[in-house]
Amino acid sequence: MIRIHILGSAAGGGLPQWNCTCANCAAARSGKIAPQTQSSIAISGDSEGHWFLINASPDLPRQIESMPQLQPYQESLRNTPITGVLLTNPDIDHALGLLHLRQQETPLVVYAADQTRTALAWIDRVLSRFSRIEWRKISADFQSLNGNLAFRAIELPGSVAFQFRDETSGATALFAPSVGELTEELGNAVQASDVVLFDGTFWSDGELGAVRLGAKTAREMNHLPIGDGSLDLLRESPARRKIYTHINNTNPILMPGTRERAQVEQAGIEVAGDGLEINL
Ligand SMILES: [Zn+2]
Ligand SMILES: [Zn+2]
Repeated sequence: MIRIHILGSAAGGGLPQWNCTCANCAAARSGKIAPQTQSSIAISGDSEGHWFLINASPDLPRQIESMPQLQPYQESLRNTPITGVLLTNPDIDHALGLLHLRQQETPLVVYAADQTRTALAWIDRVLSRFSRIEWRKISADFQSLNGNLAFRAIELPGSVAFQFRDETSGATALFAPSVGELTEELGNAVQASDVVLFDGTFWSDGELGAVRLGAKTAREMNHLPIGDGSLDLLRESPARRKIYTHINNTNPILMPGTRERAQVEQAGIEVAGDGLEINL
């Protein structure tokens, strides 16, 4: 069995974001909606307690304390169940957490595309003074990660999506938090996966421009909006569970009762929250 745990479901900045007073950030501050930490999931394919992180957010220390299975075992003074990290791209909100993992005695295993590794040379340099990063290649073909768990990378502009497979049952899960363009390969994976965790950053292309003058559009930031982008694709997917995650604090789907939230729910899609668990 594969276990997936959503550690953080927000896009960069989190919910609430430190300098933002938009309706959602205000609602999160006043306890009307649940706060969210920045996007990361933990995944495990064995019963021995090995866990992998997909993206390492700046909120990682808090996320580890929120999930007992990621905390060190009592049997020795220094240890961790975190066996490695997979990166979808080099964004700050996906990579800064690597710096929090510097205290361990053994090299930190990180799977990433060559472009991501190159862009993170600065983190590589910082960690070389500690126990360093041991970089591992990713591939378009399934490779074994641990136990029953295999994975492959689906290349996208500026990022990758990961598809995971349970080698015993054949069940698959897709994690695509940063989708700039709907490629044919990604579309096929959305149709063929049992669980789909998809880029829910923005509802509309101009959403960020409404709170910050001169802000880039969703598409310019390499995120396909939900409304006129991914909603139809996910609606038509036969996946058992379809979930929007990596949600920006400006996105109206965060607020129950909005027209946008209703459209997502009517399409059979869930809105992720921190701590959501999915068994595959
Ligand atoms: Zn991000
Ligand atoms: Zn906000």
